[in-house]
Amino acid sequence: MCMPGDLTLTKLLTDFSDMGKLGLPTEKLADKFCDEMVDLFGLDKASVKISGLGRGNLLSVEELAVNMNKHYIDNNLSGFSEFPDLVSFSNLGYKSCAIFPLDVGGKAIGTMTLLSQKGDKFKEDILNSLAIASTLFAYQISNNMEREKNLNLAKYFDAAFDSQIPQCLIDKDGTVVKANKAMFLSLSMNAKELIGRRISEIFNIDGNIVRSMSLGLSAEIFMLSDSRKTFRISQRVINANLSHLLLFENTITKQLEERAKALDYSRFETLLMLDKEGVVTWVSANSGSVMKIEKGNLIGIRLPDIVVDKHFIDVLKGAEKEPYYGSVIIDMGNGIVLYTKMMLIGTGSGYMCLVYNSLQETYVNSIKDNLDRLVDLTSDMIIAVNEFGYVKSFNRKAENMLGYSNDDVSGKAISLFYSDQESQDSISKGMGVARENGIATNIHANMFVKDRKDPLPCECSIERVIDQDGNLSGYIIISRELGTSTERNELRMELEKKTEEAEKLKSESDLKTQFIYNISHDLKTPITNIKGFASLLYRGDFGEVSDEQKSYLEIIIKESERFTGLVQQILDVAKLESGKIKLDLQDVDFVMLGNNPSIDSLAKACEAKGLAFEWKVDGDVSTMKADPNRLIQVFVNLIGNAIKFTEKGGIYVHIYKKGKKVCADIRDTGIGISKEDQKRLFREFYQVHRKDLTMQQGSGTGLGLSIVKKIVNLHGGDVKVKSEPGEGSTFTVQLPLEGKKKQIRRQKTTNVASPNQ
Ligand code: ADP
Repeated sequence: MCMPGDLTLTKLLTDFSDMGKLGLPTEKLADKFCDEMVDLFGLDKASVKISGLGRGNLLSVEELAVNMNKHYIDNNLSGFSEFPDLVSFSNLGYKSCAIFPLDVGGKAIGTMTLLSQKGDKFKEDILNSLAIASTLFAYQISNNMEREKNLNLAKYFDAAFDSQIPQCLIDKDGTVVKANKAMFLSLSMNAKELIGRRISEIFNIDGNIVRSMSLGLSAEIFMLSDSRKTFRISQRVINANLSHLLLFENTITKQLEERAKALDYSRFETLLMLDKEGVVTWVSANSGSVMKIEKGNLIGIRLPDIVVDKHFIDVLKGAEKEPYYGSVIIDMGNGIVLYTKMMLIGTGSGYMCLVYNSLQETYVNSIKDNLDRLVDLTSDMIIAVNEFGYVKSFNRKAENMLGYSNDDVSGKAISLFYSDQESQDSISKGMGVARENGIATNIHANMFVKDRKDPLPCECSIERVIDQDGNLSGYIIISRELGTSTERNELRMELEKKTEEAEKLKSESDLKTQFIYNISHDLKTPITNIKGFASLLYRGDFGEVSDEQKSYLEIIIKESERFTGLVQQILDVAKLESGKIKLDLQDVDFVMLGNNPSIDSLAKACEAKGLAFEWKVDGDVSTMKADPNRLIQVFVNLIGNAIKFTEKGGIYVHIYKKGKKVCADIRDTGIGISKEDQKRLFREFYQVHRKDLTMQQGSGTGLGLSIVKKIVNLHGGDVKVKSEPGEGSTFTVQLPLEGKKKQIRRQKTTNVASPNQ
């Protein structure tokens, strides 16, 4: 619809000013303006771009209009133009285009672009009206934007100024233009004293502080009139003219004063005044309900006496210089233990002490809520303990198993629930480990069961609990009963089974010994016959035998003798093992023993082999109780071996006294025995594997030394070997001089100590 110029203008003026009063957001307002323009001037499209409203970049032709601060008109759009934007308008079917800068007091805040599908649309007749409209539009828009800004600022200040935090606005000279109630209160100043004053006249604000505030950092300031009143101040620049200051009061006593005011209503915090010794001299009205003891009874109590921490005295001392804040347990002595946070401030004449009980209560409750639900599902006993080892809660299983209710146990030292010192130590050690490593496992401890004599053996693990701030807030002890009756039964059955097996094995071994004993005995009879008859044949009792036949008979006789010897050895082992051998104890004289025919024949064998032989008995060796035949067996075996493995040099037997023992060294200069073999030498059937052995050396059963050892052990003594390969060996037999009973005991200890066992 097209209207005559002045009428259009009148309508525009009224419509625009009405629109301005709607309080629309600037963007919406701009859209409404554009609609109005299209309608009033019969256009096809109107659009505005306002800087700061983020409506996209200006087209190059729009930029031109802004820069020239003059409208740009093209009433004949075509496909040819130096401005590509105009070409694209033409392509979109527009014939005319007018672009007006939106000017407010000589400063362009944006552009208005009008398009028409008709050619020659923007002629002199309407240009005037359009220019007026654009100016009107620009003012309205900028007003609206300003209004919006103020509105936001106002909202922001309202919120800020409502707060308990002291804050104010200062202008660019640092003059306070506005302050909130908390600011007046905190500085103890009224509006007259504060508003209009420079902030640097009130606080010690110097260049450094201004600089750090301008960097967005907070700074510490104090009041010039009262340097004890300190604040942390931070600044927010609102615009070139205005800054917003926030102040946080730093004075702890102030915090305390304020808290003290609120205290009388608090269930969780209370204030105590202490003297230099930590004795309570004054308490706030609500302290009775927080400390769970009559208010009057608190006065006169010495705090270090009721705080469960050996080092609390040091804490108190430290608080003289620097306020202390931390977790503290207070044992009220009436069965009530409080888990508190405590703030301690030295006042010169003593301390102010703020006790907060709330955190702990919330904590206990939350533990109860969360943990109980979870832990009651488990079959383990779960005990929550605070960082000082006091019980916070038992889960249901722990209540049931140990017979205490949660109310009974809460606040009690955890050590009370362990029945012996060792268990208590294990648990406290475990907590130490958990504190360091997070967890301690496999702790065995006996727990008390209410009204029962027998403690409950448990296996426990301990985990530490860390609070939100990363501080240790306690432990969780998870315990499992070690010996439930079923478990005990199972264990007993297991033990019976094992005993049975062991007995079976033992009887099997006995059987084996018996079998060997029997079979060796059975072997001995025929071989005796073989040897006997061969000897008779050899002697010619059954007629002439040729020399050749004689040599064969000789072999039969020698081999059957060897065979008898072997069987005898096996028999000996079997007998010794089955304990069938009883020592025939007599007074043995070692000098005499050396003259025994068996030893004598060994001496002869040495001579035959070109070896020296010596039997030396020291003068102080008296006679001793022993079985002479068994001792000869020992010597025959050891000397026999020595001869077997020695090719040059000799065999030297030396018998001497050493303390309460008689010792016999059987030393040879033979091939020696490696360390490895020395360890196994005395085992049954053990033979050293060697290359280049003579026929004689290679023969044998590996039983000789085991028999030696058994006989010596039976005497309560022991046998040892020292040897170097290639340098000979020394076997040492040690026999105790004492009587038999002692010998047996001795035998046991020697056995344990012997490396050959
Ligand atoms: P065996 O009847 O086979 O000789 P022993 O128990 O008497 O069995 O000896 C075990 C092994 O110890 C022998 O095979 C031998 O190699 C080694 N041995 C024993 N005495 C000596 C020694 N005096 N010198 C070197 N080796 C020895």
